[in-house]
Amino acid sequence: MPIRLLPISLANQIAAGEVIERPSSVVKELVENSLDAGALQLVVDIEKGGRRRIRIRDDGAGVSKDELPLALARHATSKIASLHDLEAIQSLGFRGEALASISSVSRLTLTSKPAAQQQAWRAWVEGRDMQAELAPASHPDGTTVDVEDLFFNTPARRKFLRTDKTEFNHIDELLKRIALSRFDVRLTLNHNQKSVRNYPAVSPAQRIDRVARVMGTAFTDHAVALTVEAMGLKLWGWVAPPHACRHQADGQYFYVNGRMMRDRMLNHAIRQAFGDRLDDERVPTYVLYLELPPTEVDVNVHPAKHEVRFQQAREVHDFILQSVREALQAGAEATAREMPS
Ligand code: ADP
Ligand code: MG
Repeated sequence: MPIRLLPISLANQIAAGEVIERPSSVVKELVENSLDAGALQLVVDIEKGGRRRIRIRDDGAGVSKDELPLALARHATSKIASLHDLEAIQSLGFRGEALASISSVSRLTLTSKPAAQQQAWRAWVEGRDMQAELAPASHPDGTTVDVEDLFFNTPARRKFLRTDKTEFNHIDELLKRIALSRFDVRLTLNHNQKSVRNYPAVSPAQRIDRVARVMGTAFTDHAVALTVEAMGLKLWGWVAPPHACRHQADGQYFYVNGRMMRDRMLNHAIRQAFGDRLDDERVPTYVLYLELPPTEVDVNVHPAKHEVRFQQAREVHDFILQSVREALQAGAEATAREMPS
């Protein structure tokens, strides 16, 4: 075959193959966009596990009419302008790929109204060159992204989708992760027109209420709270004592500078903190937040994987190990004091 440039739509579909695995990947990208836009209220509507529809409405900064086509174009982002910006990245997104990728494998419409703009506008793309079409629309301040018929044009992907229930469970889990990362944001999740989750915004003093909503009171009734600061690192959150740890790894939430991570090194540090006090049937159960200067971590590892690289990996590991171990010890002593002799 001769060498030729791929049609833009095909290039975008190939890019989508990397990050858009299933409906919950779409929800992740869209919710992160809303949060990056400063939204404090998010409504997520799902139909048929997300394969029929994923719609997210936010009250964020919006996209102006002029920028709507760019928002849908690949490698177009408002979040970084140089490699330097990437070193201290604060936003969740920065690749400028999500909307282009998703719109190449679904029917996506982006409707938005920045507060300073009188009229809302709607944009969608069609065809091989993914030219954006625009039309006036009715919408309050903020943005709605409506993704219909995910993978309608990529049967191979569609085939790998599971039942609606399973796909919805992935979305539910994703929303839990978000709920634990942004206590100040109100989140609502509906499935097939029925309300499934509602996480009202909570103040810092009421965070435990949201943790209880996500993790259940079986966790919050027993969990040990911790806050440790040393060497420019801060670890805070809640960890279950050994007897209250779950049998499955479905209660493990670890955030690095607000991003949910699943990382071998972090898991290892926490597991070690339990030592031999955890019986074989149980796994550590926790909601923990690590905060450190953004220049100390590299989050630009893989777009969909939850891995992270630390400048001082050893120090971070030992700090987590120490902090969790001491919290568990203090928790055990406090419980021992409360027990009647
Ligand atoms: P990235 O998030 O990596 O920048 P995306 O393709 O996800 O790339 O989004 C492209 C751009 O569209 C963003 O940089 C942002 O400017 C704009 N955008 C997307 N979603 C929203 C939203 N919900 N509110 C405001 N702007 C948005
Ligand atoms: Mg994005």
